[in-house]
Amino acid sequence: MSLITTWKSAEEIRFSLQDVGMVGIVSCDICANFFDTGGTRGMRYMAGLLEEWGKTVVVQKCILGCCSEEIIRQALRIYRKPLAGCEALVVLSCSAGVQNVMACDPGMKVVGALDTLGTAVITGRRDRHEASSICSFCGQCVLAYTGGICPVDGCPEGRLYGPCEGYDDAGGMCVLDTGRRCVWKEIEARGDAADLRAIERLRRDGNRTELRGPSARTAPPFARKMLGWVAVRLSQVRLGTFFGWIR
Ligand code: SF4
Ligand code: SF4
Repeated sequence: MSLITTWKSAEEIRFSLQDVGMVGIVSCDICANFFDTGGTRGMRYMAGLLEEWGKTVVVQKCILGCCSEEIIRQALRIYRKPLAGCEALVVLSCSAGVQNVMACDPGMKVVGALDTLGTAVITGRRDRHEASSICSFCGQCVLAYTGGICPVDGCPEGRLYGPCEGYDDAGGMCVLDTGRRCVWKEIEARGDAADLRAIERLRRDGNRTELRGPSARTAPPFARKMLGWVAVRLSQVRLGTFFGWIR
């Protein structure tokens, strides 16, 4: 699974950097790398744009996972000298990475240059992305009963358990967005409507046994720091490029 990210508009990024001359870039080598919005390619692209806009790119680094607190803390520590010359840090990562960099307080303005759309499978095949629906994290997943199609993404009403009332009248097209097919036609063909209704009843009954899961295991503070340090150092041997090749 990977988080889908896209570029914000040039105007928006420039606006965020309007009073800034010296810039650093942190680029996620995992999810954003898979969508060419991060990794080395995204980072170089961003650096080129920033220079075109009259900014000085003081430092640019790929990081193996911007959403990990310990990795970002270690990266800010390891790169503190070059970062000291920056007025803003441009983060090429999903929203979790941007929030994480802000929470770790690099001591300068943090600018997220990407928008986060949802999740997608990791594959270089664009046709698979186009054929897949995008998860927008509703917290009540029904994919198991819809043939893998997300109704929240595909239906303008975001109907989780079945089509809207007007569905039968539109000849297979969406009544709200007449330019596209009703996603529930496809779900009926690929999913299991009876199970979906059963799940809806089960959820509405409110009988829930919360599963606690296994007890959490975290390494002691020193080991966490060391693992974060190793991850930043591994970023320097460009593992992300390898991951990018195999998607
Ligand atoms: S139903 Fe759709 S939006 Fe909700 S969790 Fe599943 S894939 Fe995500
Ligand atoms: S016609 Fe289908 S896709 Fe359109 S709003 Fe109704 S159920 Fe959703």
